[in-house]
Amino acid sequence: MNKNTVLTAVAVIALAVAGVLFAKNLFYSKRPDTPDTTYWICVNRECNHRFELSVDKLKQERDLPQCPKCNQRTTVRAYQCPSCKGTYEAEGHGLLPKNCPLCKAAIPRPQIGKSDG
Ligand SMILES: [Zn+2]
Ligand SMILES: [Zn+2]
Repeated sequence: MNKNTVLTAVAVIALAVAGVLFAKNLFYSKRPDTPDTTYWICVNRECNHRFELSVDKLKQERDLPQCPKCNQRTTVRAYQCPSCKGTYEAEGHGLLPKNCPLCKAAIPRPQIGKSDG
């Protein structure tokens, strides 16, 4: 076995490993409930803008995110309805309505970080 053969063998093994990892990613790409987008509604009455914010960007915010339209921090966290893709506010204390206020579809059990109970 000369040096080239060894290098080729190494390359083939590396490719095989990469291929297996790639296939694994394809099969296991379904992530658990960790959305990477958050939804926000600006409650400034003259604005009422709805916007999305990536979790990465949200982490950079120290406070509530700023509304991109009116530049005020009058924003509340919103949730997206899986049925109509519309966004709606929580009802208070982070509780979600049982049905989507927009399309009335039942909303699956919320996954809101804190659960004191
Ligand atoms: Zn606004
Ligand atoms: Zn809906």
